[in-house]
Amino acid sequence: MTLNVRQQVSLRQLNTLAVECSAAYLVDISAAQHIPEAVEFARSRHLPIMVLGAGSNILFSGDYTGVVLNIQTRGVTYSGNGAQVLVEAAAGENWHQLVMNCLQRGYYGIENLALIPGTVGAAPVQNIGAYGVELDSVVEAVHGWHMESKCWMTLSREQCEFAYRDSIFKRALRDHFVITSVTLNLTTETKVHTEYAALSDYLDANGISQPTPLDVADAVIAIRRSKLPDPEEIPNAGSFFKNPVISAADFVKLRQQFPGIVAYPVDDASVKLAAGWLMEQAGWKGVQQDGVGFHAEQALVLVNPGAVGGAAVMAVADAARRDVQDKFGVTLEVEPRIY
Ligand code: FAD
Ligand code: NAP
Repeated sequence: MTLNVRQQVSLRQLNTLAVECSAAYLVDISAAQHIPEAVEFARSRHLPIMVLGAGSNILFSGDYTGVVLNIQTRGVTYSGNGAQVLVEAAAGENWHQLVMNCLQRGYYGIENLALIPGTVGAAPVQNIGAYGVELDSVVEAVHGWHMESKCWMTLSREQCEFAYRDSIFKRALRDHFVITSVTLNLTTETKVHTEYAALSDYLDANGISQPTPLDVADAVIAIRRSKLPDPEEIPNAGSFFKNPVISAADFVKLRQQFPGIVAYPVDDASVKLAAGWLMEQAGWKGVQQDGVGFHAEQALVLVNPGAVGGAAVMAVADAARRDVQDKFGVTLEVEPRIY
C-alpha cells in the first residue's frame, strides 16, 4: 500500500477559523486500512500525530510540526430490526449529510443535531450536542485503530464514557485512537424532542403543533442559520468557550449579584451557566479588534473575518476570558482543541 504523503501543506483551507499555518506532513486517509501504515510513518520519524476531520473544532496556534491524518473515508451501511435501525458511517462522512440521509430514509433520533459542521468521526470526540439532544443518546458503538496496541477496537457506548461535550476520546484515548466509523442506533418511530425553548418557540411561532422529525430538523436548521455564522462566509469554530458548570451554592451567590443571569440546573449540586450571556454582559457581543472578535448574534462564537493567526485569536479570547473572570469570578474554558 502506498501512502499519499505531502510535505509542507497549508492548513488554511482545512480549519474553519481559516488560520494560516502549515503541516510538516499531511497524509490523506481515503481507506481505514491506510491508518496503521500512516501511524508507523510518523512513529518511525518520532513525529507527533494529529487526526483531522473537517477542522471545525480546532485552533492552530502555529505550524504543525508532525503528521496530520486527513480523514476522508466514506461509506454508510444500514441494517434494520423492527423499529430499530443500525447505521454505521465512516469517520470521513459529513455529519449533517448523514442526518439528512437518515431522515430521508425515515430513520430518526439525530434530527436535533442537524447542521452541526464536521465529520462523523469527530462527533463522538466531543459528544456533539444541540437543542436538547446529545450524540450519546444514539451511539451503539465506536470503531477505530488503537495506535499503541496496534489493533482495531470497538468501544460500546458505556466504554466511550460520554459526558457533557466530553468523552474518553478527549481523555484516556486522546492522541491514542483513530476513530474509523460510528454505529448509531436509530428508530423508525417518530418520537421528537422539542423541550429546548428556542426550538419549541420556533415551532409554536410557525403553528406546528405536532412536529415530525423532519419539522424538527427544518426548525433547527432555520434557527441555526438565523444566529450562527456560516464558516464558509465568516471563519469561526462555533462556541469558543464551554458553558461553565458551578456549584449550586456559588450560583445562589452569583444570582444575588446578577439577578438576570441565564443558567440551567445540571443536578441538585451544580448549575450550568450560559457562557454566551456572560460574554455579552462582559461587553464582548459583536466586538472585533483587528479582524477577530465575537459574533454580533451570539457572543460565544469567536469569528475571524480577518483570518488572523492563532496567536492573535488567542489574544482576543484571553482578553474576553479575563473580563468574564473579573466581572463574575467565573473561569471560561476554551472548547476547541488548540494545536
Ligand atoms: P475537527 O475539528 O477536525 O477535530 C476536532 C477534534 O476531534 C480534534 O481533536 C481531532 O483530533 C479529533 N478528531 C477528529 N476526527 C477524529 C477521528 N476520526 N478520530 C479521532 N479523533 C478525531 N459542536 C457541538 O457539539 N454542537 C453544536 O451545535 C456545534 N455547532 C457548531 C457550529 C459551528 C458554526 C461550528 C463551526 C462548529 C460547531 N460545533 C458544534 C463544533 C464542531 O462542529 C463539532 O465539534 C464537530 O464534531 C467537529 O468535527 P470536525 O470533523 O470538524 O472535527
Ligand atoms: P441558546 O439557545 O441561545 O442557549 C444558550 C445556552 O443555554 C446554550 O448553550 C444551552 O446549553 C443553554 N440552554 C438553553 N436552553 C436550555 C435548556 N432547556 N436546558 C439546558 N440548557 C439550555 O444557544 P445557542 O448558542 O443558540 O445554541 C443552540 C444550541 O446549539 C445549543 O444546544 C448549543 O450547545 C448548540 N451549539 C453549539 C456550538 C458549539 O460549537 N459547541 C455552536 C453553536 C450552537 P447547551 O449548549 O448545553 O445546549
